[in-house]
Amino acid sequence: MIHNFNAGPSVLPKEVFEEASRSVLNFNNTGLSILEIGHRTTLFEPVMAEARALVKELMKLDNDHEVLFLHGGATTQFMQIPMNLLNENEIAAYTETGTWANKAIKEAKTFGHVEIVGSSKENNYRSIPKNIITPPTASYLHITTNETIAGTQWHAIPYDCGVPLVADMSSDVFSRNLNFNKFDLIYAGAQKNMGAAGVNLVIVNKNILGNVKRVIPTILDYRNHINEESMLNTPPVFAVYVAMLTLRWLQNNGGISAMEKLNNKKANLLYSTLDSLPLFKTPVNIEDRSEMNAVFTIDDKETENEFHELCKKEGMVGIKGHRSVGGFRISMYNALSIESVKAITDLMKYFANKKG
Ligand SMILES: *Cc1c(COP(=O)(O)O)cnc(C)c1O
Repeated sequence: MIHNFNAGPSVLPKEVFEEASRSVLNFNNTGLSILEIGHRTTLFEPVMAEARALVKELMKLDNDHEVLFLHGGATTQFMQIPMNLLNENEIAAYTETGTWANKAIKEAKTFGHVEIVGSSKENNYRSIPKNIITPPTASYLHITTNETIAGTQWHAIPYDCGVPLVADMSSDVFSRNLNFNKFDLIYAGAQKNMGAAGVNLVIVNKNILGNVKRVIPTILDYRNHINEESMLNTPPVFAVYVAMLTLRWLQNNGGISAMEKLNNKKANLLYSTLDSLPLFKTPVNIEDRSEMNAVFTIDDKETENEFHELCKKEGMVGIKGHRSVGGFRISMYNALSIESVKAITDLMKYFANKKG
């Protein structure tokens, strides 16, 4: 048995793989593959419409919030956001919480001024900044709700920052209930928690658009995508389809609240096991720990390698920490079963016991 703890692309529900593979051969009993149909057809249009509607429903979004499925991954959003929201002479507020936040900051600087309003750089990104103060003149505040590499997560969202709130939710979207209407822009690459690589979910409050003076290339202007109902050009058809199936699965399994409950359970099991075994060290500030990506180390290199080998032998996939951090990282996205978490925690206990 394989336990897939990959950080992204990552585990998806088995039902999604089955349905998606059937549709590659014969989509909805049409005799055609999902890969060979036009996007502007009565076959694909309902797929895009359902995907967008499911996002609205699952997140309980109001009518100011538009749902788009775009190309380019979350990385494209690092530049598309400031291009659409930040004038050259204005400032955007950013929080600096790790690798992903820093990539977003770098791109924003090419469009306007960036003010860092909270940073955990000094402690190597082991925490989430608290009590941040956003200048009221800022065009928006950007946060990375879950730092996939550092293993931190915002548990107190700065909803009342007083300016449009923008969030990179690539690695925790649909994992917990938030007040999604209080965000003005949410973006997430699909490949962590909601589908296959190749498509990006963008949710935008249309009222914040139209305030920048620069000329925005057609394909990068959110307003054009809104007007064309996310079909401005050929969308990544298959990736949208897989995201739609994953969202359907999510809805059929109790929606975001049910996922949150299960994710709490999984994270509690993993972290309480780590905390009970002194062999394993957890670098992240306890109250800022991510429920999606748990990071831990073993002090002795040889013992670390030994645990790696044991995990490999037992079918645990994707547990190596990011190359910039080292150690281990266990990703527990929605589709990861609690049985997989149980399996690795049992292995941790067995290994720690053996080591005395
Ligand atoms: C993976 C990840 C990204 C990058 O996503 P791409 O789709 O590869 O561009 C950005 N932000 C966070 C938080 C991520 O986890």
